Amino acid sequence: MQTPALEIHDDPLSQRLAQVFGYRNFRDGQREVIERVCGGQDCLVIMPTGGGKSLCYQLPALLMDGITIVVSPLISLMKDQVDSLLQTGVAAAYLNSSLPRERSAEVLKQLRHGELKLLYVSPERLLSSDFIERMQSLPLAMFAIDEAHCISQWGHDFRPEYAALGQLKQLFPYVPMMALTATADQATRQSICERLGIDPFRLLSSFDRPNIRYTVAEKLNAANQLRHFLTQQNGTNGIIYCSSRRRVDEVADRLCLQGFNAKAYHAGMTQEDRGAVQDSFLKDQIDIVVATVAFGMGINKSNVRFVVHYDIPKSIEAYYQETGRAGRDGLDAEAFMLFDPADIGRVRHLIEQAEPGPQQQVEFHKLNTMAAFAEAQTCRRQVLLHYFDESALEPCGNCDICLDPPKRYNGTEDAQKVLSCIFRLGQRFGINHLIEVLRGSKSAPIVDRGHDKLTTWGIGKDKSHEYWLSVIRQLIHLGLASQDVTRGSSITLNPSARPILKGEVVLMLAEPRIQLTTTKRKVSQ
Ligand code: ADP
Ligand code: ZN
Repeated sequence: MQTPALEIHDDPLSQRLAQVFGYRNFRDGQREVIERVCGGQDCLVIMPTGGGKSLCYQLPALLMDGITIVVSPLISLMKDQVDSLLQTGVAAAYLNSSLPRERSAEVLKQLRHGELKLLYVSPERLLSSDFIERMQSLPLAMFAIDEAHCISQWGHDFRPEYAALGQLKQLFPYVPMMALTATADQATRQSICERLGIDPFRLLSSFDRPNIRYTVAEKLNAANQLRHFLTQQNGTNGIIYCSSRRRVDEVADRLCLQGFNAKAYHAGMTQEDRGAVQDSFLKDQIDIVVATVAFGMGINKSNVRFVVHYDIPKSIEAYYQETGRAGRDGLDAEAFMLFDPADIGRVRHLIEQAEPGPQQQVEFHKLNTMAAFAEAQTCRRQVLLHYFDESALEPCGNCDICLDPPKRYNGTEDAQKVLSCIFRLGQRFGINHLIEVLRGSKSAPIVDRGHDKLTTWGIGKDKSHEYWLSVIRQLIHLGLASQDVTRGSSITLNPSARPILKGEVVLMLAEPRIQLTTTKRKVSQ
């Protein structure tokens, strides 16, 4: 054995890492972010859950003069983090509404006397006028905004109290700010920076979770399918997400009758009951928790072997976060989703009930991308990573599509039809309009714009709506075309479409699966 202590711990940063946290090496990106923020730069840190975000501000907090203020939305997480920092000998504390008055006064005293290196605060407390005044007389090292996606309506967890954090940069322009999140789509990233008023150094680490196997099955007989899946899991630990409390109770009851060691968890239960379920799951006394999305935020259990989505999640981010709770220990894990195309219509209907406006458009877009993922004919991991703007060139070999590939055919000509139609439409129309033109529709929106005069009008009338929908979605997944949400979901061309249009390469597409064509669905624009 070599003596890693000599070769690794020879610079000051690594020394502190080892001394305080007991780690030998930095993880991907940590060192870079730490160096940047210590140099006074604002940073945006995008790392998947479990990637090691906390260290990115905890270590610099110890190296920099003054106090680091950490904004965090979850009271329970604050407490956990502070407890573990105190255990490692770091002077840390937290302030939030759960703290008794006397304790709160003590923390403020420590703060005044410069006895703290890190202070965790809830956003509403931070932005109260008395606290802002207090901060103005403190030597501030930096602000760390944890779960920064909460500031964006694009994030899966928008919190109004985060919106006001934009003031911080104006009030304290010289204090470096670090925003951290595990949500990485382009729109969220952009809106975090805009709302916080920063033009930061960006660290985007890989979102790939190679040990998770993604499977999406068409929901046919959900009860049997679930039972079959669980039987294959041999009593390991897992979470089953359902879309409603009623469904949670129903599935949990059924599983218990079938002899599984399962418990329900949702916001309709008392705090004690929920705490008890969470606790026994952490201690491996329960195999399966059937839950709404209320379960899991901040659950630090490394040996969750599977996550089932009994109903379609609200968004890709939600799906990624929820499936990401499996296999944190790096061992093989399963993400299994039951998908009923009709659910899309149902959720769409719910969204339609809400007040029209930008938020509604965001919800529609999220649902559409989630639907596209479920219906994908290409490697699931590629679709996921592509969504997070990370390109995975090779199919992964560890998802249902890779393991049981759909039939493929030479789709070059049909792809050309679609791509040239996008071009003829000036890259300004959505999927439905595009398909109507391809199929030679005489509907008012087509005729009024003279699109029935285009050379591409009707060139696809021999195929069904669903067929073209599937082709277009594949072209998007393959990165040949994009859906521009900022412009009414219009379909645009990417440079990689050129060789296809010119006939320089052959494009193999996947045959649409039969189930796509059984129900007539409308794609919202
Ligand atoms: P995130 O906030 O990104 O979800 P955490 O900050 O909670 O992740 O870190 C996840 C786990 O990784 C924690 O148990 C943490 O102690 C550990 N960790 C972080 N950085 C390192 C490192 N450089 N070496 C080893 N373990 C690390
Ligand atoms: Zn794959």
